[in-house]
Amino acid sequence: MISKMDLASKLVSLRRNFFPNSCSLCREALDPKQQIFCTNCINNLPYISQHCVRCAEPLLSTGICPDCQKTPPNYRQCLTLCDYSYPISSAINSIKQNPYAPETKQLSLLLAKYLQKAYKPLNRPEIMIPMPAHPLKMLSRGFNQSYLIAEFLSTKLTQTLLRNDICFRKQLGKPQRSQSRLQRMKILATTFGTRKHSEIQGKSIALVDDVVTTGSTAKAATASLLMAGAKSVDLWCIAKTSWHNHSSSIKI
Ligand SMILES: [Zn+2]
Ligand SMILES: [Zn+2]
Repeated sequence: MISKMDLASKLVSLRRNFFPNSCSLCREALDPKQQIFCTNCINNLPYISQHCVRCAEPLLSTGICPDCQKTPPNYRQCLTLCDYSYPISSAINSIKQNPYAPETKQLSLLLAKYLQKAYKPLNRPEIMIPMPAHPLKMLSRGFNQSYLIAEFLSTKLTQTLLRNDICFRKQLGKPQRSQSRLQRMKILATTFGTRKHSEIQGKSIALVDDVVTTGSTAKAATASLLMAGAKSVDLWCIAKTSWHNHSSSIKI
């Protein structure tokens, strides 16, 4: 059965085929520099506003949310461009399905701009690592969307070195909802492996992903990098789900 998300994504790509030089949302003419969304639609994306400075969960005022106060995450901070709601949810779907999706470039460059402002020049992570794809996903999709996003980011954030040969996924299995929290945490803790430890020793790292949902995968990858000697890990993502849109419809 076709999901709402697939349908929205198909409608957007259908519209794109009929109106190739117009915004996929409002059909306004696109500037040659724009890939899929016009300036007006870009200005109205669901950007993150008041949020937790650690996990990016929306808050009434920027600060640290109760969850992070109680149990701080192992990563230093999660920096996200948008909340995971329409039209970003549909754009993420395209990014996951199509290695040439125009959304990847336009949203990655917007994320790069956001990251440039978020850091003081000397404080930016030294290395960026795309979230490794699940081996089965690599087989079926043939590409890792997080790597494509990181490639676009690295064209703008030139002081941060892109490395795709450090972190990898070890297990094919995936924690199931039916397993206890402890069982799932144990599986996640052994999901990621890290090579070339000497090259990340004492370095600040950014893990790049298209969307961060519960954060458990990001925490598992962070744990692996910290155990290998990294100084700190930040998360960079185009979108983050929050309590009001944690959804099982996201294809990981
Ligand atoms: Zn538009
Ligand atoms: Zn938080």
